[in-house]
Amino acid sequence: MQSSGKGKLYIVGTGPGSIPYLTKRAIEAVEESEYIIGNDFYLNLIKDRLEGKEVIWSSMGKEVERARKCIEIAKEHVISMVSGGDPGIYGMAGIVLEVLEHDGTDIEFEVVPGVTAATAAASRVGSPLSGDYVTISLSDLLTPLEVIEKRLELAFQMDIPVVLYNPKSRGRPDNLSIALSIALKYKKEETPVAVVKNACREGEETTYITLKGLFNNNSYVDMHSVVIIGGAKSRFMNIGERKGIITPRGYERKYVY
Ligand code: SAH
Repeated sequence: MQSSGKGKLYIVGTGPGSIPYLTKRAIEAVEESEYIIGNDFYLNLIKDRLEGKEVIWSSMGKEVERARKCIEIAKEHVISMVSGGDPGIYGMAGIVLEVLEHDGTDIEFEVVPGVTAATAAASRVGSPLSGDYVTISLSDLLTPLEVIEKRLELAFQMDIPVVLYNPKSRGRPDNLSIALSIALKYKKEETPVAVVKNACREGEETTYITLKGLFNNNSYVDMHSVVIIGGAKSRFMNIGERKGIITPRGYERKYVY
């Protein structure tokens, strides 16, 4: 199906969830749009920017429907599909482009990147990632648990940090315990871990703990958190009163400092 070519579809990353962490391009896209569509949680976070727009509130689990709707509207109008963090990381960009490709609709689109939860959380913790790292989502809504477990087995055998997205929700309270028990097969009990809840937005809270400590009690981890599990070289840092985690990237091999 072809379109008249008048519209445009922005797939916009809204970052971790507060205005200072929205990119300028994301703000421009939202400002240019007549329509804004998204999950109610993320729309609420940018509600100050929605005045005068046609806002289509959707809810979690309705992603395919939402993708179809935004494509339909984009044939004639400028619309922003908002997606938390970066839209290409466990976000809406993939499904929107899959539907677009499947339908053969030729509309103008632009994916606008956003600050993803891993780097937002890492910024709060110091420099826990620094070099190579892995992200794994513990959500088994779209990926079977056996596949997630296999990926965890492989990731924890590497010496690099692992960031867990979607660590817990009402529907899958045990996936985090499963992940941590796999981690303990390969990593030291005292491996530094940070749980960052609501990074760079209201309600931010960071907890430092060891891998074994979190395995013993992870009750405070929720779906608004990411869990950063250090690599073999990661260590707790102490800079004055500031706590955090540093993962040396390797400068110590080449330089004296
Ligand atoms: N596209 C998003 C991720 C969506 S998956 C991004 O790039 O960040 C949803 C998961 O992301 C949540 O369950 C949580 O693990 C994580 N998340 C999103 N925003 C967060 C924030 N501000 N602080 C901590 N974790 C966050």
